[in-house]
Amino acid sequence: MSSDKSSFTHLLLEWNETQNHRPLPWKGIKNPYFIWLSEIILQQTRVEQGLPYYLKFTEQYPTVIDLANAPEDEVMKMWEGLGYYSRARNLHAAAKYVAEELNGEFPSEYETIKKLKGVGDYTAAAIASFAYNLPYAVVDGNVYRVLSRYFGIDTPIDSTEGKKQFAALAQDLLDKENAAIYNQSIMDFGARHCTPAKPLCLFCNMQSNCTAFQTGKTDSLPVKAKKIKKRKRYFNYILVFYEDKVYLKKRTEKDIWQNLYEFILLESDKKLDRQLLNKEVEKLFNKQPFSIEILEEDYQQLLTHQKIYITFAVVELRSKPPEEFLEHHHLVSKSKIDSLAFPKTLKQFISNSELFKMT
Ligand code: SF4
Repeated sequence: MSSDKSSFTHLLLEWNETQNHRPLPWKGIKNPYFIWLSEIILQQTRVEQGLPYYLKFTEQYPTVIDLANAPEDEVMKMWEGLGYYSRARNLHAAAKYVAEELNGEFPSEYETIKKLKGVGDYTAAAIASFAYNLPYAVVDGNVYRVLSRYFGIDTPIDSTEGKKQFAALAQDLLDKENAAIYNQSIMDFGARHCTPAKPLCLFCNMQSNCTAFQTGKTDSLPVKAKKIKKRKRYFNYILVFYEDKVYLKKRTEKDIWQNLYEFILLESDKKLDRQLLNKEVEKLFNKQPFSIEILEEDYQQLLTHQKIYITFAVVELRSKPPEEFLEHHHLVSKSKIDSLAFPKTLKQFISNSELFKMT
């Protein structure tokens, strides 16, 4: 067995030539703006899920200036369903920066690309290599996995030492003349062949050189030091209708789902039973007459660091609410709901619920 560096690069490029035949619209293109869009969309996202978003973004905003000029609510709506919404906010802010500060010219140097909001080492290396063939190696989850298995490295990938070690190795392995092809190959190899579960070891051209395969450690590499502990949160949404309108608020706080819309929210540190929820709603409406129905079905939404438990209660007001009934909330016509961006579970709820069907 020889897990040496030159064999790795050679075998990887050989795999790419002989087995990697998956055409995708962003592969091989040189337009840095489109590459940037694809990279931001594909962060923490599977190709199948990201592809339609890439197509609609490039169609709606063919240049970075078009994206910069788009209203923020429109960009958030375009992003709806893709999750990790800070990506959309950063994308929009960076497009504005390119349009206003860089005369609409997408930067062409690694360091300047990295200054764009939402662009870290990985995305900067991807853009710099794909668009300009600059010699910067990408290092992401796929790369950690492939390198830790092939070279049998058990340094935790989320430790400072591990990050340094893998970044240096990745840069060392990079085919500097063919940075674009090399980077694309290692990303595809990790995503499609050396996958987290059930890697295709039996059909792998690296098999006889791969330390993990030869020593039976494929399942235990890469190593992670910390297990993410998820914070539990309980979101009780109160849907307050008056005539054909419902109360909405834009989430502006520094928290999850920033700039998305939601109904009136009562957050609690444990699940509220019916009695408690009724009481809370009574407090909210003071002396206003209302009827309330607490919906049976509970929902859950898993985020990277949080688990959100969601319930819905429907409230009908019997008289017109005062103008400024609740701070930052507005009565919005049901017909407008479709044009606003909501968190995933709320969007699902709206799409499936009879409450929002137009009569
Ligand atoms: S042999 Fe298996 S673990 Fe090793 S590189 Fe190939 S797919 Fe990955």
